[in-house]
Amino acid sequence: MEYTGISAASGYALGPAFLLQDSKIQVVKSEVPKENLNSEILRFEEALGKAAHELEAIKEKTRQTIGAEEAEIFSAHIMVLEDPEYSGAIKELIRAEAWNTEWAIQEVTNRFLGLFASMDNEYIRERAADLRDVSNRLLRHLLGIRSQSLSEITEKVVLFAHDLTPSDTAQLDKDKVVGIVTNIGGRTSHSAIMARSMEIPAVVGMQDLVEKIKAGDFVIVDGSEGKVFVNPTEDLIKSYKGKQTRYEAQRQELKKLVSQPSMTPDGHQVELVANIGNPQDALVAVTNGAEGIGLYRTEFLYMGRQELPSEEEQFEAYKAVAVMFGKEHPVVIRSLDIGGDKALPYLDMPKEMNPFLGYRAIRLCLDRTDIFRTQLRAILRASAYGNIRLMYPMIATLEELKGANKVLETVKQELLAETIPFNKGLEVGMMVEIPAVAVMADRFAKEVDFFSIGTNDLIQYTMAADRTNETVSYLYQPFNLALLRLIRGVIEAAHKAGIRVAMCGEMAGDLTAFPILLGLGLDEFSMSASSILPARALVRQLPWRKAQLIAEAVLEMDNPQEIDVYVKQKMQ
Ligand code: PEP
Ligand code: MG
Repeated sequence: MEYTGISAASGYALGPAFLLQDSKIQVVKSEVPKENLNSEILRFEEALGKAAHELEAIKEKTRQTIGAEEAEIFSAHIMVLEDPEYSGAIKELIRAEAWNTEWAIQEVTNRFLGLFASMDNEYIRERAADLRDVSNRLLRHLLGIRSQSLSEITEKVVLFAHDLTPSDTAQLDKDKVVGIVTNIGGRTSHSAIMARSMEIPAVVGMQDLVEKIKAGDFVIVDGSEGKVFVNPTEDLIKSYKGKQTRYEAQRQELKKLVSQPSMTPDGHQVELVANIGNPQDALVAVTNGAEGIGLYRTEFLYMGRQELPSEEEQFEAYKAVAVMFGKEHPVVIRSLDIGGDKALPYLDMPKEMNPFLGYRAIRLCLDRTDIFRTQLRAILRASAYGNIRLMYPMIATLEELKGANKVLETVKQELLAETIPFNKGLEVGMMVEIPAVAVMADRFAKEVDFFSIGTNDLIQYTMAADRTNETVSYLYQPFNLALLRLIRGVIEAAHKAGIRVAMCGEMAGDLTAFPILLGLGLDEFSMSASSILPARALVRQLPWRKAQLIAEAVLEMDNPQEIDVYVKQKMQ
């Protein structure tokens, strides 16, 4: 049987299922006599102390066995314990209602969880697991329940659990638990983050699979695709064993590169950064060694909902990523690129014959300055943290660029007047994805701090071939000489004006295009997180000089096929 969930940690695992039973904590309500209220509070404070000691120990063990970053998860738990709002509310209930400590803890925890659940922010909602973990720890101390031990696991197993708390995960013996499957959780729940750092293939969000499975069932976990196979055929087992061996060998090699510089053997350095759509993706980018974010597609924050996101919501989503990457690593936030194939049902957009040639991105923002200003305020406010840069999409004319900057300037003045902090030196760049701009790149280069080439659109507009229409997909040619010449021109114009030039279209992560782009002098490659380490491996073994020769040679060729074959052959 095949089941699909959410991929939380990639890789493959095969083995018998081990079911982690939930040790249910039963809490009973009772009334505390008035004269005993002080000692009840003392009981609570004692439990707080024990839990804090235990957490310090787990934190230290995690730091030694997994890593400093993962150990910080337990600092978050200690902070919950120390949070006066949480413990204060519990004490308040004990005093005011004369409730026993256990009941008061359960009440306050449930109130906080309810509050988290109502927030429209997946990251916050998932922090609920931390709170549950902390309250269970307190209750176990008060009720004298021993923490459930995973020490019964003596052979290699795939662990199935309804949910896995970060402390459960920290206790896992990586040599015994080869895979993890849980009913609930998302990619950013701390357990998923830890599974990724411990490199245990994991699939989460399986709904009720854990109830269907029997201990000892043979299973395959495909963490890369988010799939679980229960009692698979011999053929499937054989095929997955092959995948596992190949994956392991590759991963071991690539892993060494996470914090290595993206530098060619002859000393030419480039930046390998990630494309993301939300703060959760940013975590994956970090674990894949991204040196920053080259494209934050903000439109995803506007999708799958009924109304525009508020300034506050956007501010939080931008700030979260900026903080994650810190001052050292840039985070390029692209202003709203809605329209084309990305419509917003609640925006009442016009029906168009050619949406990709229509009311889209900066065109819409310059028309709906109310929407644009809210976003710019959020981006500017977030720029007080980390290292944020702003980028406009779909600029076609200098007037549009100047128009966008004018709106930006008025928003800056507004923030200044309100004494709201932002980065006064915020860098502003633009996408180069319309052929008219690529041709005129020298003029635009004088007006911005950086370029980012959007090949997904630049190819469709250069070749007049809709990127979503498979009937004309034969014309969608990254290696068409017209496109390569445009790219070369943009890079040259940028460098002449002394600005950096990036690429954030899919072409940047294509390993065959990579040598050509490197040879043409592209400074920054922005791609999906999973492409970063393979790209870094390539850069580190390809001399820049050789890449330059490859680029020179292909710019003499007429046929995209010929270019493809030539580069592949040169890279063997
Ligand atoms: C592009 O056009 O290359 C690009 C990165 O933007 P999008 O795919 O979001 O249009
Ligand atoms: Mg685009």
